[in-house]
Amino acid sequence: MTTARTEEDQGPPGIARVVVEIAGGREFDYRIPEHLSGKVRQGSRVVVPFNRTETTGYVTALLSESAYEERLKEIQSVVGEHPMLHAGMLELADWISEYYVCSRDAVLRSMMPAAVRRRKPGFIQRVFVSLARFPSPQDLEQLRRRAPRQARILEILKEQGSSQLGALLKKAGASRQSLRSLESKGLVRTTRRIAERDPWERELILPSAPPELMPQQKKALETIQDAIQGGEPRVVLLFGVTGSGKTEVYLRAIADVLQRGQGAIVLVPEISLTPQTVERFRSRFGDTVAVLHSGLSEGERHDEWHRLNRGDARIAIGARSALFAPVRNPGLIVVDEEHETTYKQEETPRYHARDVAVMRGRKEGCAVVLGSATPSLESYYNAARGKYRLVELPVRVDHRRMPAVRVVDMRIEAEKAGLRVISNELLEAARSRLERGEQVMLFLNRRGFASALICHRCGYTATCPDCSVSMTYHVEGPKLLCHLCGGEQKVPAKCPQCGDKAFRYAGVGTQRVEQVASKLFPGAVIQRMDSDSTTRKGAHRRILWDFRAGKINILVGTQMIAKGLDFPNVTLVGVIYADIMLHMPDFRAAERTFQLLTQVAGRAGRGELSGEVVVQTFTPYHPAIQAARSLNYRAFYDQEIEFRRELAYPPFTRLVCVRFRGESEPAVKETAERLKQVLEPELSGTIVSGPAPAPVARVRGKFRYQLLLRSRRIRTVCGVLKDVLSHFRSPKGIEVTVDVDPVSLL
Ligand code: ADP
Ligand code: ZN
Repeated sequence: MTTARTEEDQGPPGIARVVVEIAGGREFDYRIPEHLSGKVRQGSRVVVPFNRTETTGYVTALLSESAYEERLKEIQSVVGEHPMLHAGMLELADWISEYYVCSRDAVLRSMMPAAVRRRKPGFIQRVFVSLARFPSPQDLEQLRRRAPRQARILEILKEQGSSQLGALLKKAGASRQSLRSLESKGLVRTTRRIAERDPWERELILPSAPPELMPQQKKALETIQDAIQGGEPRVVLLFGVTGSGKTEVYLRAIADVLQRGQGAIVLVPEISLTPQTVERFRSRFGDTVAVLHSGLSEGERHDEWHRLNRGDARIAIGARSALFAPVRNPGLIVVDEEHETTYKQEETPRYHARDVAVMRGRKEGCAVVLGSATPSLESYYNAARGKYRLVELPVRVDHRRMPAVRVVDMRIEAEKAGLRVISNELLEAARSRLERGEQVMLFLNRRGFASALICHRCGYTATCPDCSVSMTYHVEGPKLLCHLCGGEQKVPAKCPQCGDKAFRYAGVGTQRVEQVASKLFPGAVIQRMDSDSTTRKGAHRRILWDFRAGKINILVGTQMIAKGLDFPNVTLVGVIYADIMLHMPDFRAAERTFQLLTQVAGRAGRGELSGEVVVQTFTPYHPAIQAARSLNYRAFYDQEIEFRRELAYPPFTRLVCVRFRGESEPAVKETAERLKQVLEPELSGTIVSGPAPAPVARVRGKFRYQLLLRSRRIRTVCGVLKDVLSHFRSPKGIEVTVDVDPVSLL
């Protein structure tokens, strides 16, 4: 029998509660053995026995007693010196697991880079040399005469304090022998130390002085500072056109946070996590910046993470998962380009980094800044309702003009001159820009040459055998490629259905644009940039470099060229076909189109020269295109928000998409219907649509159905789903996934 103890006579905490990873994130108590006492702390990563095997977990609490006292196993070891998961993060993990209807274990796993989760801390040990005592002038004098290399070593160390062995010997032009003599004279000593693999080792980054803020930036900064100091609401939407100086405002706000002794997290979409972006932070804040992204080696990621965890670095910058960076006492979280869909993770846990950032901010009592030139309807709506603060940067720094946008009605164009990839208007505009030595970007959100190969005679279309989409024709090969599953086919010599030899290429892709452009502009250097042309490592960077250096006149590309790039000599952007996104069967199609057109337009005229955008479309009067023409976000928002209200779509409801996948269509359908029957009675006030085949009905040989739930009370829906799914049995081979706040319904 155990007796309750009071606070005072509580013994040392001999027991640790551990969330065990392989147990789906459930918690178990373990005894702390004598030799580990004091080393096991809350948040420590520990190795524990579990079901006759060994696994890892995190300590969530230290206790002095346990209900299972008699049967407790012992913690085997502690990983690393510092706790790795502080209480706030565990709470956040719980919230994510409930909100996104997934196991806590899956959440914990994605909170930490794989390199960090491995059991042993994988630091590189390096030898460092430092002065053992300060050499007297006589010592130095003597050495200079008799052993100049040894003297050189001492001089370097006098200047630098300490140096890594290899670098020191190289710099001094000395051998290990010289070092050993110095060591035996008691002048230097060597130590083994953990050395971070510095991702910037070979780059010299000069410190930069901040520019004088423009009045509008000052106002934005003051609002953010107020939120940092605790003023409500603590979420600020920074709505600023591209080039309006948002990043400069982030930098100032972060400087402020550091002054307060706090840290900061900066999230950017993977695609804009360029060396230039990171460099801006490094040149302002130096070593206290740690980067976390997929381009780093495992070792680098590991080291950057631990620098944050130890508190040696206080600013984390990275893509989606950097949200979980172990920044101590964060004062500010920045989510740049908050409208980007890449913030949503498309595998379990399907969290949205922007939304979780707001939640982490709330839990840790810190300010959150969401920045965008085209805010998501959700965020702008929250700002309009006063849930977030809104600050605007309506003009570009130095008052550079926004580009002029012209819309070309391709229906009229087709009547006049037949259907062409590049209209007369775009052709003329490009010609005159090129003649003046300026650069042009041609944008089309579809790679390949043609999106379908169709028989002229019988109408046969080459489709993927495993997916319900047509095969894209690619010039390289040539081959037919499925953009969903990556499946490849040879291009048939004649129609497999009727034997005719004449095919028609329907639907233009970037390769076709490249080909057409090279005929129209024979003197110009043209380069294509899409995921086909950038498969080789470094290709992406090289193309951008060449473009910046002016070695390329026309850059043709997909959304890869739409975002975040800043080329002062680009004065014309041509959008080949603006309707691609618009016709997607997704309620956000208009929003995505508007965002993309605005982003693309932002590429034109970033320098001294004024810019121009030509948008080719078959639906020139669509509200999204009209709003993009005047680059008027408010006009778009006002229209779109009414549409959402009428149809009860977000932000007026929250969405949950339950997806069903399997090889047998009847079984998939039946499972979806059965789940709906179980769910519906539990969900009053929820609009349940479907089950219906997903817009892309089959992928990789699997049929896809979905059930769409719309509700104002999302937490209730998630709770019900979690509950129902824990009892629901789906037949073998049928996969059921829950996607809360989905960003794509395809
Ligand atoms: P955004 O993040 O909104 O695209 P940036 O912060 O990158 O805008 O600013 C655009 C450009 O203007 C950058 O080259 C930046 O260095 C410069 N800039 C920003 N603020 C100022 C300022 N107050 N004075 C001078 N230049 C500035
Ligand atoms: Zn396929």
